[in-house]
Amino acid sequence: MSKLSSELDQAFRAAALRPTAQRYAVLEFLAEHRVHATAEEIFDAVNRNDPRASRATVYNNLRALAKAGLVREVMSEGKAARFDANLRRHHHFICERCSAVEDISWFDLPPSAGRAALGGRNVTNYEIVFRGSCVRCRDSKSKQGAKS
Ligand SMILES: [Zn+2]
Ligand SMILES: [Zn+2]
Repeated sequence: MSKLSSELDQAFRAAALRPTAQRYAVLEFLAEHRVHATAEEIFDAVNRNDPRASRATVYNNLRALAKAGLVREVMSEGKAARFDANLRRHHHFICERCSAVEDISWFDLPPSAGRAALGGRNVTNYEIVFRGSCVRCRDSKSKQGAKS
C-alpha cells in the first residue's frame, strides 16, 4: 500500500466516514494535486477516471468530505470556492496578481499572540493567509522593469 493511500485510509477512519470509491477518488485527487481545485475541476478529474461519476454525486461527496473535516474550503473571495485536502495543517499564500493559492508549511504562532485581541473566545484552529506576489509574478514584474 502506498504512503498516500494508507494516509487516506487513516483519515477516513479518524473521521468515521465510509470511504466509498468516489469519496476516496475526490480526497486522493485533492491530496495529490495541491492546486486548491474548484468543485468543477474536481468533477472533471474524477470523471476522467470514472466517467460514470455524475456531477451531483461528486458534489455530494465533496460536501460529505468537508462536513467530516477531511476537506476544507479555502477562502475564495467572491470567486468559485476552492477545496483543499485537510490532511496536514498548513497556511496559505494568495497571489494578488494571478490569484494562485499556495500552501505554506505549518508553523505555530507564539501562544501569547492575539490573546488579548481574542478575549474569552476559545480558539480551536487558525490559519494565516499571506498575500502579495507569487514567485512567478514577482519575476515577470522585475523582468518587465528591467526592459523599460
Ligand atoms: Zn502570481
Ligand atoms: Zn492549501
